[in-house]
Amino acid sequence: MIGFDLTPEQKALQEKARRFSEEVILPVAAQHDRDGTFPLDVMEKAYQGGFFTPLVPKKYGGQGLGVLDTCILSEELAAGCMGIYVSIFVSTLALYPIIRFGTEEQKERFLRPFCSKFSIASYCLSETTVGSDPASMRATAVLEGDHYLLNGTKMWITNGGYADFYLVFATTAPQRKHKGIISLIVPSKLEGITPGEPIDKMGQRASNTTSVIFKEVRVPKENLLGGEGEGFKKAMAALDITRPMIAVGSVGIARTALELATDYAKKRIQFGVPISQHQAVQFMLADMAKDIEAARLLVWKAAWLADQGVRNSKEAAMAKAFAADVAMRATTDAVQIYGGMGYTKWHPVEKLMRDAKVIQIYEGTAQIMRLVIARQLLQEREKTLF
Ligand SMILES: Cc1cc2nc3c(=O)[nH]c(=O)nc-3n(C[C@H](O)[C@H](O)[C@H](O)COP(=O)(O)OP(=O)(O)OC[C@H]3O[C@@H](n4cnc5c(N)ncnc54)[C@H](O)[C@@H]3O)c2cc1C
Repeated sequence: MIGFDLTPEQKALQEKARRFSEEVILPVAAQHDRDGTFPLDVMEKAYQGGFFTPLVPKKYGGQGLGVLDTCILSEELAAGCMGIYVSIFVSTLALYPIIRFGTEEQKERFLRPFCSKFSIASYCLSETTVGSDPASMRATAVLEGDHYLLNGTKMWITNGGYADFYLVFATTAPQRKHKGIISLIVPSKLEGITPGEPIDKMGQRASNTTSVIFKEVRVPKENLLGGEGEGFKKAMAALDITRPMIAVGSVGIARTALELATDYAKKRIQFGVPISQHQAVQFMLADMAKDIEAARLLVWKAAWLADQGVRNSKEAAMAKAFAADVAMRATTDAVQIYGGMGYTKWHPVEKLMRDAKVIQIYEGTAQIMRLVIARQLLQEREKTLF
């Protein structure tokens, strides 16, 4: 009834991504973390390896993979460096709504060129005053003849300084809240677009995060994705698909933390024995291992549901919330197992802990994920009662 075996194709994908992670990502991860620089050359290699376009159908030049396939390879990339993985992943976040809701003409105009030459995309939902509550959006889009006039400043935009196009959410009617929001595909070469300076972050420092100012940008009307009044619904539908991909990044980070902590515990001697022989340390390792396993299974289920075309908002939120907490706990415990050494820049576990924190914040905070889960639980219960 249930099988957890990977197909030969999935094993090959996993192996390819693992090799890329070990050979291309890991060797430069610490340096980019230290300097807060964006690894453009790694991005180009990742693009050539097909990691930017996993969900794009083959007919447009993409990889034509499923959500579960993508999660399997993503865990490997994130195990090397979450900051680099997220920079790769964000293009999928911006491309997916086009794959799902774009017209044939839009797919030809945006997906095909994206797949034919190294390109980067960004997803622009957040603003300085707009985080968990996108309905309070301030960026505006006013239809003027054959174009929308886009004005506003987006904040926290991953790949903001490097994107070839932005998927931008803006309101046509602030009083209509969610229903006023539209999404526009905005090529970065249009006049009036200014990315800000890279934001100096606690973790995931290899990823480029900036504000992006849109001032009187004339966006052709044909770049409207999915019609007026539908933008918010589409943004949320995209998150149901992409949340498992962020959740699986947490699994990758936590797995690396466990591997490092286990190796260290076997070597570090205190009280005449390796600390791995102290039961308190073993329990920390055991908790990490069981939590990682559970997080991966939640991710796989949410991804599998998405591949079946079944609504997975609750499961995607569960996977995201649980896995992010697992990454935070596992990396914190890895620092604990390293003792004082874990608190230094001499060992990689402090980076993992810093990288993990933001996963509880972006793609929907830990609290908002619980709201999504609770809302659906209550709705389901209501249906059984009446
Ligand atoms: C490194 C990084 C990269 C990012 N990349 C992108 C990107 O590429 N594109 C993009 O659009 N955005 C991006 N974001 C933005 C991110 O999605 C937001 O930070 C996130 O949605 C939270 O919004 P906020 O920071 O405004 O926090 P707020 O919404 O102000 O929340 C602050 C706190 O209040 C809590 N809270 C808020 N409302 C409720 C509620 N109703 N009930 C309970 N608790 C609540 C939150 O859980 C949180 O703990 C990124 C952020 C970071 C830090």
